[in-house]
Amino acid sequence: MAWPAIIRYAIALLVLLPPPPCAAVDRLVPGNPLSPGATIVSDGGSFALGFFSPANSTPAKLYIGIWYNDIPQLTVVWVANRETPVTSSSASLSLTNASDLVLSDAGGRVAWTTNVAGAAPAPAAGGAAAAVLLNTGNLVIRSPDGTTLWQSFDHPADTFLPGMKIRIRYVTRAGERLVSWKGPADPSPGPFSFGADPDTFLQVFVWNGTRPIWRSGPWTGYMVSTQTTAPYLTNTSVIVYLAVVNTEEEIYITFSLSDGAAHTRYVLTDAGDYQLQTWNGSSSAWILLSWTRGECMSYGYCGLNGYCDITEFPSTCKCLNGFEPTSLEDWRGGRFSQGCRRKEALRCGDGFLAFPGIQSPDKFVLVRNRDLHECEAECTKNCSCVAYAYANLSTSRTKGDLTRCLVWTGDLTDTTRTGVGDASDTLYLRVAGTMRAKRSHALKTVLPAVLISGLLILAAISLAWFKFKGRVNYGAKHKKLTLDDMSASDELGEGNHAQDFEFLSVRFEDIVAATSNFSEACKIGQGGFGKVYKAMLGCREVAIKRLSKDSDQGTKEFKNEVVLIAKLQHRNLVRLLGCSVEADEKILIYEYLANGSLDATLFDNSRKMLLDWPMRLNIIKGVARGLLYLHQDSRLTIIHRDLKAANVLLDAEMRPKIADFGMARIFNDSQENANTRCVVGTYGYMAPEYAMEGVFSIKSDVYSFGVLLLEVVTGIRRSSSGGIMGFPNLIVYAWNMWKEGKARDLADPYIMDTCSLDEVLLCSHVALLCVQENPDDRPLMSSVVLTLENGSTRLPAPNNPGHYGQTSSDVEQTRDRTENSMNSLTLTTIEGR
Ligand code: ATP
Repeated sequence: MAWPAIIRYAIALLVLLPPPPCAAVDRLVPGNPLSPGATIVSDGGSFALGFFSPANSTPAKLYIGIWYNDIPQLTVVWVANRETPVTSSSASLSLTNASDLVLSDAGGRVAWTTNVAGAAPAPAAGGAAAAVLLNTGNLVIRSPDGTTLWQSFDHPADTFLPGMKIRIRYVTRAGERLVSWKGPADPSPGPFSFGADPDTFLQVFVWNGTRPIWRSGPWTGYMVSTQTTAPYLTNTSVIVYLAVVNTEEEIYITFSLSDGAAHTRYVLTDAGDYQLQTWNGSSSAWILLSWTRGECMSYGYCGLNGYCDITEFPSTCKCLNGFEPTSLEDWRGGRFSQGCRRKEALRCGDGFLAFPGIQSPDKFVLVRNRDLHECEAECTKNCSCVAYAYANLSTSRTKGDLTRCLVWTGDLTDTTRTGVGDASDTLYLRVAGTMRAKRSHALKTVLPAVLISGLLILAAISLAWFKFKGRVNYGAKHKKLTLDDMSASDELGEGNHAQDFEFLSVRFEDIVAATSNFSEACKIGQGGFGKVYKAMLGCREVAIKRLSKDSDQGTKEFKNEVVLIAKLQHRNLVRLLGCSVEADEKILIYEYLANGSLDATLFDNSRKMLLDWPMRLNIIKGVARGLLYLHQDSRLTIIHRDLKAANVLLDAEMRPKIADFGMARIFNDSQENANTRCVVGTYGYMAPEYAMEGVFSIKSDVYSFGVLLLEVVTGIRRSSSGGIMGFPNLIVYAWNMWKEGKARDLADPYIMDTCSLDEVLLCSHVALLCVQENPDDRPLMSSVVLTLENGSTRLPAPNNPGHYGQTSSDVEQTRDRTENSMNSLTLTTIEGR
């Protein structure tokens, strides 16, 4: 790709005539000119200024330049007289009394000048100006009162150094650009330039003459690009901003480095490649960190309505949704210039499909002062609008209008798929046959839900039909279950797999024997409902939960409930095998899960390495499936209300099963409406509307799932008394990382070797969608499962998360124990299937 260019470049620089060792002076003052062979060196010793000469020029051409002083390979970062080299060894660079730097040849002819005197008033009398070389690589002419009269950073050559600003003036739309060298040893201006887009101020380009050859994509409010994980820049980030957009005077591009990244620079090579390079001392070479030349990264390479997918390796051209290659033959032959055409013509009523992780196309129109919905409306009302994208710029150093609504009409040019991240857009693409939703939000949440519900209804009808047929044909096979003295309720007859259903009704004395009279040796846990023991019943290991004696439910109703719950069978629910009821003793018998609760492994530093990423992903998916079953796939709608890591148990193969899912039914929670005065559950996992107003729904479970998901990704508890990385809790921490484009850093260090960053990002994204403040914004578990299973990329951007203040004493409090916890734990409502 771009490697040959950098090697060529480095070799060329090597053959430049190296200047002699430099004098330790950092400035030029009037009357003290600089001659070939002498240098001035910045205060910290990083940069030097002097004459240099490319080796192959005869007679030797002399240029004034600035180069790194403290690396062995001569690397010039700025050239003064790019078009006017001098050839005489008696040339000199001097600072005049009028504060101008002047390069004169042997005959005294001016070859180059800063022309400060012509542009600005002469400095006040009473001292001389000085041209100081700063340790940033900036040569500054300062008046005696310290005013900057001129600086080399305002006149860039081909190199963009940290702290430098490439400006564009709002009014004149004129701006500075990096301009490439003509050749590896020819500093005169080449055809390539780099700078901000004077039309939109929102993106940066590399041009060959006037033709764009690369584009950054419109600014999303975050960095234009970032490099945080480059191997030679550990613990370092290179952040590129389009900063201070919308001020009256100017915008500029700048970039900064965190500590330890000295000798890192962008350079526009003589081949037109805009590269981020860093000096590697141990190999004594410039290392390439990013570049603009790639398989399909050149501007418009994939043709109109095509896009370059750089999330794949090698990157390839694809057609946008709703389009197909204009010439299949060309496309298959790797010739993409003809681009893509619509499969079906658009009608005005067509809606939009979200396409996240996109570097938006070029040729957009910026509509000012619109929020997301207004932006969508802007596009909807215009039948020739084919796409829109919205960004909130408020996280940046922007002033003025913080919205960024882009709309496109006609064909889409130069789109790139970069993957989901803060520097990417979600492109809402109008596609034929797509229903128009009132709001894109509704499109994203309601449409999948409607589709899924439709499918489920269809599946239910088919199932009912087959069951009906089955009953007619095989009714005799259907085994009616009995439980001791009790005939199971009619519910039993409707079981999905009634013939497989085996229910234990155990005498209390057998339980006493199996647990050695509830001895401490057999005890494996204690929860809000009572103690848990491990025992053998027959030849099966079971967990026995001895319930506290608070339930006022009658024995028969209790057994009915137990049977009902026991019939909810799903591989991701802990199976309730049976019960024992005698006098005021109520005992539940569960399958035994060898690896105990998830929290005991996830948050234990000596055990958490057992949970690698594939295992964690599996756990997440399993819990999601189990919750979906509780919410909508079982005969009951069960709102768990206390989903948390402690209520996820792991079997011998670390497969997850949700525990405690039917306790409210078993405890006959009489509360049937979705609002309760008695808020119970676990702080930190509870949705804010539930914790604060007692309002709960399946969406409050979705919230708890989101918190659990964040815990699994990060390996961090939802809250701790000291806060998390300076944030009050895990949700706020995750949300901030997300906003700062650092979501990938959320991954638990213990999974770094085994995780896929895409999956971590997807899970973090899903988690943040689940913990959104507004319950209506949270996805249904059906959408969550679909996304986790299919790795769907069509996800909306998360809105603000909901969380609530909590004191450290709240943190580990799991129940409101002032209430009768067992009678108020989990509300269950019965819903027809
Ligand atoms: P709470 O019920 O108050 O929310 P909890 O979920 O931790 O808290 P229990 O469900 O009673 O309480 O479980 C207590 C502990 O017993 C669990 O953390 C787990 O270690 C153990 N345990 C419970 N059920 C089983 C099981 N089926 N197999 C193995 N261990 C179990």
